[in-house]
Amino acid sequence: MSCQEFILLGSNFFSMLVIMWRILHEITQVVRELQHSRSGVTVITEDGCVYEANYVILSVSIGVLQSDLLAFTPSLPRWKLEAIEKCDVMVYTKIFLKFPYRFWPSGPEKEFFIYAHERRGYYTFWQHMDNAYPGSNILVVTLTNGESKRVEAQSNDDTLREAMAVLRDMFGPDIPDAIDILVPRWFNNRFQRGSYSNYPIIANRKVFHNIKAPVGRIFFTGEHTSERFNGYVHGGYLAGIDTGKALVEEIRKENERESENQTLLLEPLLALTGSLTMSKPETVSNIHKCDIPTQLYLSGKLGIPEAIL
Ligand SMILES: Cc1cc2nc3c(=O)[nH]c(=O)nc-3n(C[C@H](O)[C@H](O)[C@H](O)COP(=O)(O)OP(=O)(O)OC[C@H]3O[C@@H](n4cnc5c(N)ncnc54)[C@H](O)[C@@H]3O)c2cc1C
Repeated sequence: MSCQEFILLGSNFFSMLVIMWRILHEITQVVRELQHSRSGVTVITEDGCVYEANYVILSVSIGVLQSDLLAFTPSLPRWKLEAIEKCDVMVYTKIFLKFPYRFWPSGPEKEFFIYAHERRGYYTFWQHMDNAYPGSNILVVTLTNGESKRVEAQSNDDTLREAMAVLRDMFGPDIPDAIDILVPRWFNNRFQRGSYSNYPIIANRKVFHNIKAPVGRIFFTGEHTSERFNGYVHGGYLAGIDTGKALVEEIRKENERESENQTLLLEPLLALTGSLTMSKPETVSNIHKCDIPTQLYLSGKLGIPEAIL
């Protein structure tokens, strides 16, 4: 069965499940290569499927653009690659710890607490989940950049040990051990390679402009292409709308160019048809609008048949 076709095997429940699985499989494919030319884009996925498109909107994160997950053929131009490299990627990690019971202060105006350690950013920001999820007995600690990467590289057991030592430093030795821990690995996730874009303060508008700019028929979107709200969910949302509009405009212009070209091709043909009953000067004046072929015909370098073809 080819990648784009589904064959209905029958109407029984099992075959419906198979079809649903195939559809889900289809929509969660990993893109590995984009081959682009003046006429279109070919997208090749990890499992070997090939999709042809007139245009592509690419919404992977800036971290993925900086990684080697996607290959571009031909490769992206230097101005694009330089801009992508200049944008920093922030790693922001929320580690969740679940406890058998609550031992931290709770109630009005008590939600966050801060741990001061000689090592910068070492399990500094803590928050309980009692307000959002009463009775969940969950604490969240936020790490960033260097500390995020360090913790991502070690086992969850090591991270749990470190976090418990910090909590015992704050709340005393008698607090219970956490019964579960969740450590997201945004940096090591090959589909993220970080949490969100973080343009350097000194970055000029050109960097941003070049990150957003299309390359041929590949349009770029995502939070990193939102000038006002990069780094945020609504930045990604608004950038998607902007990019969609830009692509519609490009398609409209392309259609206009195509219909102009068709007119240019048609005019000499009409002129030829007319010339069967016209004198040569009349024929020439009738095809005055067409572009290069007309010029060549008028200058005597092409005959009518060659000018048309
Ligand atoms: C811990 C954390 C906390 C955050 N907190 C906030 C917050 O409080 N408020 C806020 O506004 N924002 C927050 N953000 C940022 C917010 O999540 C992002 O700005 C937003 O998700 C960006 O959306 P996006 O569509 O541009 O990119 P993404 O959400 O990264 O979407 C890109 C998609 O492309 C997919 N993909 C990548 N490569 C491929 C490939 N090769 N083939 C197929 N698919 C691929 C990815 O799987 C992903 O689904 C937070 C982020 C993190 C990590």
